Amino acid sequence: MQLKNYDYIFLGAGCASLSIIMRMIASQKFNQKKILLIDKEPKTKNDRTWCFWEHQPGFFEEIVYRKWDQLLFKTTDETTPLQMDNYEYKMIRGIDFYNKCFSEIAQHKNIDTLYGEISFEEIKNGLTEIKINNELLVYNEHAIIFNSIYIPLKKTKVTFYLLQHFTGWIVETKENVFTPKQATIMDFRVHQNNGTTFVYALPLAANRALIEYTLFSENILPENEYDKELKLYLNEFLQIHDYTICEKEFGIIPMTNEKFSFFKNGMYFIGTAGGQTKASTGFTFRFIQKQADAIVEQLILKGNLFKNKQTKKRFLFYDSTLLHILSKKMMEGKTIFSILFKKNKASAIFKFLDNETTIAEEIKLLKTLPKKIFIKAGFKEFIKMIRNII
Ligand SMILES: Cc1cc2nc3c(=O)[nH]c(=O)nc-3n(C[C@H](O)[C@H](O)[C@H](O)COP(=O)(O)OP(=O)(O)OC[C@H]3O[C@@H](n4cnc5c(N)ncnc54)[C@H](O)[C@@H]3O)c2cc1C
Repeated sequence: MQLKNYDYIFLGAGCASLSIIMRMIASQKFNQKKILLIDKEPKTKNDRTWCFWEHQPGFFEEIVYRKWDQLLFKTTDETTPLQMDNYEYKMIRGIDFYNKCFSEIAQHKNIDTLYGEISFEEIKNGLTEIKINNELLVYNEHAIIFNSIYIPLKKTKVTFYLLQHFTGWIVETKENVFTPKQATIMDFRVHQNNGTTFVYALPLAANRALIEYTLFSENILPENEYDKELKLYLNEFLQIHDYTICEKEFGIIPMTNEKFSFFKNGMYFIGTAGGQTKASTGFTFRFIQKQADAIVEQLILKGNLFKNKQTKKRFLFYDSTLLHILSKKMMEGKTIFSILFKKNKASAIFKFLDNETTIAEEIKLLKTLPKKIFIKAGFKEFIKMIRNII
């Protein structure tokens, strides 16, 4: 397949590629460049809901579907209202995001979309051939290739690999049972038999909410387990018995401290494939937005991507330490998150989890965690890090 006239080729047309392209369009600096977007299928389904916190209007503010400035953290013995300061918890529906991006793309003749199954074949000297429906993609040697197709690396003994897996239901009730202004970010009253397990309860109206049963563990559950637990949660904890399930979402997000490269085999890796998923929480959306800002800014300023900002090592170290503790079952995630949210302001935790804190702020926060366990796990991860094996 000869596609030699493109300056930028995006493999995968999901959150990361579209976030970059939308910024390229907004800047008007790429109007003379030819851009190609390739995906296996058109983005016509509401296949995911993105939730994230933010303390200012974001790039996609106009499609924020709901936002909350009151969040609750729940455990068996306590409900903690979180001190958010100027943070808001926001929700963007996948379908609104795709519709916005593709309607904008349709107005730009320099951007083409192609549908087909992408595959990769390593040949030699770190070079990789890209194939679309098994046909070799031949592109201009000066083209910049962005790859957002995540292929997990082989597991090794030194890296941790947990999955964040979840099923969410949008339920509707006859009575008004939800408080629309108030969302529950983590409800840890559910059993922990399968690993760190909690429920999000995000009201969309007084009679409508997204309820998501979420686990951090090595293996996913049989499909009917999530449904059984969601039903139980609605009945037992929310006392809701009469409801209709309007929509369903299932997702798996990798939580791993494997080493991600920004540039490899002639391609720039973006989104989850480029390590933008926070290993200790699974949150990705905001990191993708920050990466998209940095990439487009650098392309405008320098025309290349040689010096793209990388995540600071100490944040990777904190993530590895938490993954170590959870993977080796040194302490329950429920206990760790409970201590964190009870002893710290949510705004400080959000800033920390966004990798935006200063060392002094991190020390203040880390001092609230159980010292013995964190020092033990932290020491082992530190050794791996200085030996450069993670
Ligand atoms: C259900 C779900 C809910 C999530 N919720 C949140 C959330 O609330 N907050 C948060 O921060 N993060 C969330 N995430 C994590 C993360 O934000 C998303 O996965 C996000 O979409 C990642 O963006 P991406 O561009 O890296 O990958 P994607 O958006 O998945 O884009 C990759 C694209 O590549 C295409 N593709 C894949 N393989 C091939 C192939 N072989 N050939 C051709 N095309 C291919 C796919 O069709 C897709 O369009 C969620 C993830 C899922 C799955």
